[in-house]
Amino acid sequence: LSWCKKVYIQICTIPGVKITLGISSGKGGVGKSTTAVNIAAALSLQGAKVGLLDADVYGPNLPQMLGLGQADIEVIHTPTGDKFLPLEVQGIKLMSVGLMAEKNRPLAWRGPVLHKIITQFINDVEWGELDYLLIDLPPGTGDAQITIIQESPICGVILVTTPQQVAIADVRRNIYMFRQVGVPVLGIVENMSYLICGDCGSHTYIFGSGGGEQLATELQAPLLGQIPIDQRICSGGDTGNPIATSEQASPAGEVFRQIAIAL
Ligand code: ADP
Repeated sequence: LSWCKKVYIQICTIPGVKITLGISSGKGGVGKSTTAVNIAAALSLQGAKVGLLDADVYGPNLPQMLGLGQADIEVIHTPTGDKFLPLEVQGIKLMSVGLMAEKNRPLAWRGPVLHKIITQFINDVEWGELDYLLIDLPPGTGDAQITIIQESPICGVILVTTPQQVAIADVRRNIYMFRQVGVPVLGIVENMSYLICGDCGSHTYIFGSGGGEQLATELQAPLLGQIPIDQRICSGGDTGNPIATSEQASPAGEVFRQIAIAL
């Protein structure tokens, strides 16, 4: 994807941020936030300066996935107005809509309020110098998604899907939305692609196979990686230990690190 850097670098208008990438999915539960956290962690491991914006208003889980409890967001005064300061966790600058709400309360904002909060949220964060800003978008194609996409200067999106045909169908709807707002799809990540047998190493394709590849061919976009199902991804997400930076070697961690290299 190095072409992405050359082609889209100039349209990224957040001061100090070189590349802004959206991470999106057609539906919830396919591993979009997991992918966002792990790519961010892997990029940081490579030495890049990384920011992570958790804009998933329906399920802002990134603070927990990075091991952060409830934290207060600091506001600083700058010549261009008040700005939120991102929190620094595991070498990643993090800002989450989840930190703006009371713990365990839904982010029950409607139309105009949602629009206002999202706009402020996107525009008023003091990121400093970043090589990559990853934005974890809400799943689907609703109001919140369109507002965020239109408000953020996204260079391109990475789509996350499982190989299952119903998941692929939802991603197609997503692609249609991105095309309408003129945001290029940079690649596909297929998650939960297969389960590796702990005894013999054979692969079981629980959600079917070939979905990600089929989508990539249709889109003429690269299939960036196929992430196996791994219990350590799940427990790492709950305890704030991304598998991509775990010291324990794993095929899933390796795929995330390869994706980060490709970016
Ligand atoms: P989304 O952001 O698409 O809603 P999440 O990233 O929150 O999805 O993932 C949903 C659940 O699935 C989480 O509990 C996560 O830990 C788990 N999960 C995601 N990918 C994998 C995987 N490859 N193997 C095992 N568990 C996974």
